[in-house]
Formats: sequence, structure tokens, C-alpha cells
Amino acid sequence: MFNYNHSHPEIRDAVSKLCEGFDGKYWQRCDADRAYPSEFVQALTDAGYLSALVPEEFGGLSLPISAGAAILEEIHRSGGNAAACHAQMYTMGTVLRHGSDVQKARFLPGIADGSLRLQAFGVTEPTSGTDTTALRTVARRDGDEYVVNGQKVWTSRAEHSDLMLLLARTTPLEECVKKTDGLSVFLVDMRDVRGRSLTITPIRTMMNHSSTQLFFDDMRIPADSLVGEEGKGFRYILSGMNAERILIAAECIGDAKWFIEKASIYAGERSVFGRPIGKNQGIQFPIAKAYSQMRAAELMLHEAIRLFETGENPGEEANLSKLLCADASWAAGEMCVQTFGGFGFAEEYDVERKFREARLYQVAPISTNLILSYIAEHVLKLPRSY
Ligand SMILES: Cc1cc2nc3c(=O)[nH]c(=O)nc-3n(C[C@H](O)[C@H](O)[C@H](O)COP(=O)(O)OP(=O)(O)OC[C@H]3O[C@@H](n4cnc5c(N)ncnc54)[C@H](O)[C@@H]3O)c2cc1C
Repeated sequence: MFNYNHSHPEIRDAVSKLCEGFDGKYWQRCDADRAYPSEFVQALTDAGYLSALVPEEFGGLSLPISAGAAILEEIHRSGGNAAACHAQMYTMGTVLRHGSDVQKARFLPGIADGSLRLQAFGVTEPTSGTDTTALRTVARRDGDEYVVNGQKVWTSRAEHSDLMLLLARTTPLEECVKKTDGLSVFLVDMRDVRGRSLTITPIRTMMNHSSTQLFFDDMRIPADSLVGEEGKGFRYILSGMNAERILIAAECIGDAKWFIEKASIYAGERSVFGRPIGKNQGIQFPIAKAYSQMRAAELMLHEAIRLFETGENPGEEANLSKLLCADASWAAGEMCVQTFGGFGFAEEYDVERKFREARLYQVAPISTNLILSYIAEHVLKLPRSY
């Protein structure tokens, strides 16, 4: 409906066409059954979009992050939900940056052609929550293997993934100089352990997200599952955060555009008191405000992408993008429900589903509070609060 004149117009058009095959009814069915959108993920994989950021030498498209952002934004703008598969775009980067040549040669071509799925990212635990360094899952070296014991929560898509990037403690906290030391990243082939030493139990959530709890019971994995150096895992995970923040922010912009477009069309068509409701400034001003908020957040996202692509470390801009874009999508969602009145609550209009889906980004993958803490501490040089 709106012409934003954005980067990668061919990719946006192609993704948008692909998404036409997965309409509101499709997403409503998946949502009602809490089913994984396998057909949609397969179509994206077949078209090569999930390999967008994988280098060409490993069979990917070698595209810049702006292309990844464009793909995810268009999926959300068309009413879909990329949460079923977005993690592969950013978790893959950890393997690319810190994995050995053997690991890259072994896993990246399969990830690129879709025969291997790296959708699961196991960091959060029930007791540690946001305080990642307090996690309790332990990996102990035993000859040619590591033995993993512990528990994760909110590991999304584990049932629909072959591989998982796992963060575990390899040196006890009390033996570490800094609490960020002694954590290690593993690329776990879940096909070898699932149903035996790895138990996966789904968590039913307010939206369809395929999230799970994981239990590791003497889970033995080959020692060469370790990514990079032992004890440096926390740094490796942090090094992927800018990409994660940028890609999620792009999804939020897609959601905001969807809400704004839906609301604008509806406000022009729905007639009450003999005239379109959009004639009332009480209806049109909130839509205009949501649009303004979205465009401002989008500018910050473009700045984060620009800096990222010039090889800088846009920690501030990536965090601000995630904060502002998540706020913009949530504000647009609230406006859209209000514009639709009662029909905003009816499943068939998709507004209530998108509203539930958009709410997540205030909390995950990082909560708004923790971004504000980052800005306060690292940008404004205020004392660390935790
Ligand atoms: C649907 C869903 C999918 C997810 N997928 C994944 C996944 O795939 N992999 C994964 O590892 N994790 C995943 N997560 C976990 C997500 O990253 C965490 O829920 C999030 O980081 C917050 O952690 P918590 O839920 O333990 O909240 P807590 O840490 O218990 O915090 C609760 C509240 O207190 C606030 N708070 C805590 N400490 C502070 C502080 N110092 N200052 C100010 N406020 C504070 C938090 O911001 C939050 O609002 C997912 C979560 C959800 C809901």
C-alpha cells in the first residue's frame, strides 16, 4: 500500500510474492493448532532465503545484513511470522566467526541448502533468567567427549532443529576471575541425543512459538562440538548480538507496517454514523502517530545496518533499533486493535494474532529493561545497575 523506496527491492518483491502463498488462514490454522509452519519454512528454504547470510563458499548467497533484514521485514509486513526460522540467520554467524574450518566445512553447506537446520539457541535457564553468567548447565570434559548436565528453558524451535548452539559452564564460577569467563559454546547435533540424554518438552505460550524446555542428563557430545576456545563462549555469544538486534528490529518494523496498513485500509472502509471511521481525527491521528513512530525507529535501524555493513561495532545503534522498533510495533498494534474496535478481537482479521506475536519483542530475545541498562551504562556512562 505504501511505497517506502527501500533497499533490495527485488528481494522484497520476491519474498512478498512467496508470502502470498501463506495467507491469514494459514497462519490462523498454525496458531490455533500451535503447529510449526513447516510448509512456509520449507518454501523459504527452497528459495534460498534462509541461507542469505551464509558465504558463497559454503553454498549461501553471501548477502549483507540489510538483505537479511529486508527478508524478515517483508515476512512480517505480509502478516506472517519469521520467528519459526529467524534464529538460523543470526546463530549461524557464531559458527562462521568462531567455528573451526572443519566445523564450517561440515555444517555450513547443509545449513545453506536446508538439509541441516540450526534453529535452536540454548542460553536462558529457569533460575538464571537474564543473568546469563549465573547459568547452571555444566559441560565436563571426559576424554574425547563433553558430558552435559542441566536444564534450559525457552529454547525455541528445538523440536524443529537438527543442531543447537548451546551455552554451558565449563569452569565453575568460583574458579573464574570474571563471571563472564568459564562459559563455552557448543554446536550440538541433537539428532544423536534427542529422546535419550536430551529430553525436550514443549511450553504452550500466548502465541505460536514452538518454545521448549530442555533437560540434559549426562548428555555425551563429541569434544569437537566445542566452538572456538573453551571458556570464551560468553564473548562469542555477545559478538552475535548486534546482528540479532538488527534482524529482530526489522521484524518489528514489518509488524508495525502491517498494523498501520491494516488500520488505514479498515478506517477508510468501515462506515459508522454514515461516514468512514477514518474521517474522525480520533481514529486518523493515532494511525498517523504510529506511522511517524515507525518511520523514526526505522531510521535508527537503517543507521545500525549502515554501520554494521561498514564493519563498525554499532552496539548503541543496534540496541536502540531493537528498543525503538519493538516499541513502534507494539504502539502500532495497540492502535490497530483500537481502530478495528470489536473486530480487532476476532481471529479472522489476524489483528489479535499479530498483537500477541508483537508483544514478545518487549521481552525476548532481550527485554526492554536490559537495553535501557545497556544505554545507561555504556552510552551515558551511568553506574552499572546489576
Ligand atoms: C517465547 C519466547 C521465546 C524465547 N526463545 C529463546 C530462545 O530460543 N533461546 C533462549 O536462550 N532464550 C529464549 N527466550 C528467553 C528470553 O530471552 C528471556 O525470557 C528474556 O531474556 C528474559 O529472561 P527471563 O524470562 O528469565 O526474565 P527474568 O530475568 O526473570 O526477568 C523478569 C523481568 O525482570 C526484568 N529484570 C531482570 N533483571 C533486571 C535488571 N537488572 N534491571 C531491570 N530489569 C530487570 C527483566 O527485564 C524482565 O522484565 C525466549 C523467551 C520467550 C518468552
